[in-house]
Amino acid sequence: MGKKSFDADVIIIGAGPAGLSAAIWCVELGLETIIFEKEAEPGGQLLRIFNPIKNYLGLETANGRELRDIFVRSYAKRKPAMRLSAEIAEMDPAARSIVTTSGDRFTARALIIATGVRRRRLNVPGEEKFIGKGVIDSGTNEKQKARNKRVIVVGGGDAALENTLILADFASKVYVTHRRSELTARAKFTEKALNHPNIEFRRETVVNAIKGGSKVEAVELTSVKTGKNEELAAEIVLVRIGVEPTTEILKGLIDLDSKGYILINSNCETSSPGVYAIGDAANPIAPTISTATGTGATAAKAIFGSLRDTNDV
Ligand code: NDP
Repeated sequence: MGKKSFDADVIIIGAGPAGLSAAIWCVELGLETIIFEKEAEPGGQLLRIFNPIKNYLGLETANGRELRDIFVRSYAKRKPAMRLSAEIAEMDPAARSIVTTSGDRFTARALIIATGVRRRRLNVPGEEKFIGKGVIDSGTNEKQKARNKRVIVVGGGDAALENTLILADFASKVYVTHRRSELTARAKFTEKALNHPNIEFRRETVVNAIKGGSKVEAVELTSVKTGKNEELAAEIVLVRIGVEPTTEILKGLIDLDSKGYILINSNCETSSPGVYAIGDAANPIAPTISTATGTGATAAKAIFGSLRDTNDV
């Protein structure tokens, strides 16, 4: 299938759960498909989930990588083409073409954007400098580093409090700093954290800087109520302040909301005909593995229907 001027019927950008699901459905429907992934292996955010996955229907796994492996086994049977370590530098939605950072151009009948989200950063002095020197990336994976240390977790959502509870069993003290007074985490986490003897909250505070010499020694906080500064001594810092969509290259090309999420209709089609978006990058309301895989199927079926209507398949 596929006329000579096209490299594929469908190009999918991103090999997380949404992209993998879309790929499986495209191949199932007989659409020639190439999937591009900027990282060296498929999986997207699943590669960075170190806690058990319990809310994906029918499967419970010890962590994200285990679920990724199951998805990849299912995907591998269909054998769609996958290019790893292939980052997209440019996109032309009208032409439905992409250019990789190595300069290769590919054109398809339809594009599916499944670029997901990435962790938001504080963007304060010391955050970058102390990565691996006290600024940790995961409570689960790096809890041993917190043994008998003072820890500061930044954020008030599920991720901040889930990690706080894990670290509190190892640390001498965990401070949770949150910019608002209300926590946004689910009750299951907040109730445990509020009653934990090792956990102390610093609400209505913002982090100005992470300080130290060769490693983290303190965090500078400012009270949003009083404007007063406080230097809180700590050796370990974990930032969990939500996520932001990976959609920079789409700015000005397709419609995004004010936070950069891609706007789509019920077929997962963007403002540019033939360009679809799926998974977390187009779902600020319910970013879950279930919705990611579901929207992958929706986009593939919508593309198939649209190409069939124009006699292109
Ligand atoms: P959330 O978006 O739920 O929460 C982000 C928190 O960070 C909010 O309290 C927010 O405060 C705060 N914040 C945002 N920006 C800043 C900033 N610049 N400076 C300081 N604080 C800031 O994100 P999470 O990372 O907690 O979770 C992401 C998703 O993953 C959610 O859907 C969550 O439910 C899910 N998750 C699920 C888990 C599970 O099922 N076990 C575990 C962990 C996460 P404010 O309210 O003021 O904006």
